[in-house]
Amino acid sequence: MKKTIKDFDLSSKKVIIRVDFNVPIKNGIITDDNRIKESLPTIKYAIDNGAKVILMAHLGRIKTEDDLEHNSLEPVAYRLSELLDKEVIFVDQTHGELLEREINNLKDGSVLLMENTRFEDLNGNKESGNDETLGTYWASLGDIFINDAFGTAHRAHASNVGIASHLPNGIGFLMEKELKYLEKAITNPDRPFTVILGGSKVSDKIKVIENLVKIADYILIGGGMMYTFLYAKGYNIGKSLLDSESIAFCKDMLEKYHNKIILPVDVVCGLAIEENTEVIPCKVDEVADNYIGLDIGENTIQLFKSYLNKSKTVIWNGPVGVFEIEPFDMGTKKLCDILTNIDGDVIIGGGDTSAAIIGMGYQNSFAHISTGGGASLELLEGKPLPGIEIIDEK
Ligand code: AMP
Repeated sequence: MKKTIKDFDLSSKKVIIRVDFNVPIKNGIITDDNRIKESLPTIKYAIDNGAKVILMAHLGRIKTEDDLEHNSLEPVAYRLSELLDKEVIFVDQTHGELLEREINNLKDGSVLLMENTRFEDLNGNKESGNDETLGTYWASLGDIFINDAFGTAHRAHASNVGIASHLPNGIGFLMEKELKYLEKAITNPDRPFTVILGGSKVSDKIKVIENLVKIADYILIGGGMMYTFLYAKGYNIGKSLLDSESIAFCKDMLEKYHNKIILPVDVVCGLAIEENTEVIPCKVDEVADNYIGLDIGENTIQLFKSYLNKSKTVIWNGPVGVFEIEPFDMGTKKLCDILTNIDGDVIIGGGDTSAAIIGMGYQNSFAHISTGGGASLELLEGKPLPGIEIIDEK
C-alpha cells in the first residue's frame, strides 16, 4: 500500500501537492473545471491540518514563447479561490526569488499556486525530461510531497518523479480513489467483469485489449474501432473507419476469444459525418458502400444491456459513437442510462469518454469517472505508472 497524505503530520509544514489542473480554457475561461473540483478534498485536508500548501500543476504543452501566453495557470487560481472560498496566492514564476519569498511567507493553512510547471520546457524540456537539477530545486521548496495528479502519473516528469525522489512522499485522495477503482478492477474484480471499448482506432487500444481479454469476462466493442473487427469477420463496412494495420490483430482476437469479444449486430450509418446527414439504421451485414457507420444500433444496445445487467464491475473506455454529433450520440447516451441502473461498480476510463459522459449530465451517476485518459489506458494495459511507482510504501 502506498503512503497517503494521512500518514504525515502536516502542521506548519511546507507541503507540495502536485495536482492535475490541466483543464480546457477558451479565451481565459475554464470550460470544464472537473479536475479542479476533484483536487479539492486533498487541498482542503492539507489546509485543515495546518499545512502551508504549495500547488504545482501543468497546463497544455509548451513549445514556443507564444504558448506561454495561452497556458498560464492564473485563471485556475481564480477558479480554485472561488471553489475554496479562500485566497489563493498565484506566483507567475516557476523558479527564483519571488517564488521562494512567497513560499517562505506562507502562513499555516494558506495556499499558493505556482505557474505552469511546463514553462520550464521552453528551456530544454526540463520538466518533461525530468531534469535532475529542476526536480531537486522544486523539492528544496517544500518539506513533504504529495502526488495527486493521476492524469500525469504515466509520465516521469520533474514535478512528480523528480520531486518525489528527494522528499518524504505520499499520494492524495484523488490518486487513492483512481487506484482503488482501476487497480481493483484489473487485479481482483467483482464478476462478471465487463469492459466496453470504443473510440476511434483499434491500434490505440491493442495493448488494452491484449491485457483485459485475459482478465475480463466480456469485452463489448463499439465506436469507430468496431468496423475493423467487423471487416476482419468479412462484413462490408462501406466508408466506415478502417484501421488496416490492425485487421490481423482483430482476426486473431476473434478466433481466440470469440466467446468474450461481443460485436455489434446493427449500426447507425450516415452519408456524411455531419448533423443533418440522412440517418440509416441497418444490420451489420447490410452496410452499403456509401454508408459511414457512426453509432451502435438499437438491437446492439439491447444485446450489450443483457451483458451489462448481470455485471458486477464495468470499465468503459471510448465512446461507442460519434457523440459530438446528434443523433450519433444516442448509443453512448443509452449505455449511460443502462449503466446508471446496474448493480455493479461502473468506472469510466478518462479522456474523451469522461468528457462525453460529464457533458451529457451523468457526472454523478457512476462509481468513478477517471480524471486521466492516458494514465488510465496505461494502467489498463497493465503497465506500471512511474508517478505512482516512485511513491513510498507504508
Ligand atoms: P478516442 O480518442 O480513441 O477515445 O476516440 C474518441 C473519438 O472516437 C470521438 O471523437 C468519437 O467521435 C470517435 N468515434 C466514435 N465512434 C466513431 C465512429 N463510428 N466513427 C468514427 N469515429 C468515431
